[in-house]
Amino acid sequence: MSVSGNCEVCATGGVSHTCSRCAQLVCEKHFDDETDLCVECLSAVGGGPGGERQPQNTPDGVDTYRF
Ligand SMILES: [Zn+2]
Ligand SMILES: [Zn+2]
Repeated sequence: MSVSGNCEVCATGGVSHTCSRCAQLVCEKHFDDETDLCVECLSAVGGGPGGERQPQNTPDGVDTYRF
């Protein structure tokens, strides 16, 4: 397996990772280490089961108790 070329996302960064989903060669900037996915797959599968990340984190019990 010869890994050479540029990132297929930005076309400028050197390839350092291969997406485990689409086998796309991407640079470190466009690769998510935790999921082994490129940013495109990451956004495609993002929000699915298992990775529930809600952007708006409702502050429940925040320290604003002022009377
Ligand atoms: Zn890139
Ligand atoms: Zn991918």
